[in-house]
Amino acid sequence: MAERFLVGAGVGSGVAHGKAFVLARPEAALAQISKPGNRVGMVAIQNAMQSVAEDLENITTVGDAKDVMVALAMILRDPVLFQEVKAHLSEGSEAAEAIRRAFARFARKLESLGGYFAERASDLGYLANRVITELAGEQPEIKFPDEPFVLVTESISPMDASKLDPERVLAVITSDGTPTSHSAIIIRAAKLPMVVGLIGAGLIRTGVDLLVDASSGQVVLEPSTERIERYRVAANLDTHLIKVIEDDREAPVLLLANLGSSFEASAAIASGAKGVGLFRTELLYLGQLVPPTLEEQYEEYSRLLRAFKGKRVLVRVLDLDFDKPLPFLKETGSGNYANRGLQVLLANPEVLLTQLAALALAQQANPETEMWVMAPMVLNVAEAQEFAEFARKSGIKNVGVMIEVPEVTQSDVIDGILQVVDFISIGTNDLTHYALGKSRHTAGDGAVSGTISLAETRKPEVMSLIERVVAAAKRANKPVGVCGEAAGDPESARAFIALGVDSLSASSALLPQLKAALLAG
Ligand code: PEP
Ligand code: MG
Repeated sequence: MAERFLVGAGVGSGVAHGKAFVLARPEAALAQISKPGNRVGMVAIQNAMQSVAEDLENITTVGDAKDVMVALAMILRDPVLFQEVKAHLSEGSEAAEAIRRAFARFARKLESLGGYFAERASDLGYLANRVITELAGEQPEIKFPDEPFVLVTESISPMDASKLDPERVLAVITSDGTPTSHSAIIIRAAKLPMVVGLIGAGLIRTGVDLLVDASSGQVVLEPSTERIERYRVAANLDTHLIKVIEDDREAPVLLLANLGSSFEASAAIASGAKGVGLFRTELLYLGQLVPPTLEEQYEEYSRLLRAFKGKRVLVRVLDLDFDKPLPFLKETGSGNYANRGLQVLLANPEVLLTQLAALALAQQANPETEMWVMAPMVLNVAEAQEFAEFARKSGIKNVGVMIEVPEVTQSDVIDGILQVVDFISIGTNDLTHYALGKSRHTAGDGAVSGTISLAETRKPEVMSLIERVVAAAKRANKPVGVCGEAAGDPESARAFIALGVDSLSASSALLPQLKAALLAG
């Protein structure tokens, strides 16, 4: 089976490789007992909420975890929450639905309060699960695999998170949740790699081979042996990590990190990254019915820029992909590139302008960080120019585009683009696919498929395009970097350096290994 990439928000750092074990939602068990004629009533729900609250209060744990349990028990005992459940039951909802809807509404209320309360909102999903499980009563005991496994679940309660056995659980993946939830705090403290809010987590089945990279928020399904080996070497370097990072010698080019969330910043800094070469902003938008507000975006970008004070941070504006449709975006384009990249943003200028405004504000608030902003998958000079005008009018100083399709590597096109932007970055993942005439997608199942191998990026028909792009950037005297997967592979990286790239950006988990390999020559 081909490799596939899924992306979420990484929590902490670390990489794990193992088979998935998928935990199902408790709804199925509850459905058995909430059939017509056997309805679960208000008293049963109230008792279940109280009983879970008691469990949380009585759990023997200390420190942060104890505070978390007590805070959650208080939420469950809040009469307003039970009133919400009652209201949904009287409107005719089934028990599980009433609980989920009431808890979700309560979460939104917490979110609107902002700050600490907003961060706690994501725990309401776990609480709903716990109450539903309690109502469903005795369940067949879950048979965990004998071998260590990667736990894949919709959400995990802080209580369950605190009970995870690091000898058995290699990593945790959730489809819901945020990096600041109580569970994430507990799992990070246990030094287990975690990725939350994974888009497309529903595609993972028990037994599927997974590579979880918490430092970049990426999960690779059925990773190639070449990729596993690369990460294995990186993990084995762990003990030498400090030595590599503290090695005064600089790598021959700037080594930057690829991030998908500001919460991955500390792992990147610990890995010796000189800054960020690709900040993917999709996580802010995916799964939303409306675009994130200027304030929400400002908070995330400011947190990112703060973490990289004195360094360069290259943010990419929203990169829509057809497998991740967003209800608030008008579709556009046709053919291979339909509904992908910059053209979608240009067709939805209000979304682009809000993002640019949030970025400009974050830069103003963090003047000591050098923010660069780029657009994904530009298709021609006119698009690059339009984006550059929007960005500069919004107050962005360093404006660039990603080179990801073969058409724009034609000399006249790339020269034209370089006249209107300040820098370019080569996205080898997409460029390799398109140059070799392969689709990056597997039709129908909605997954982004990373079916290229790193060796394919090194094929002459791809390398000749990259060579042309780098040469054009040199002629124009503008910085050029590579931020696709191949940038983290020493053999490919050496080839890019030989062509003259100025920076390479990769998962921070791979950076120490990359630096060591490049210094070794
Ligand atoms: C790329 O295409 O190489 C790239 C870095 O962008 P993404 O993987 O996010 O499409
Ligand atoms: Mg791309």
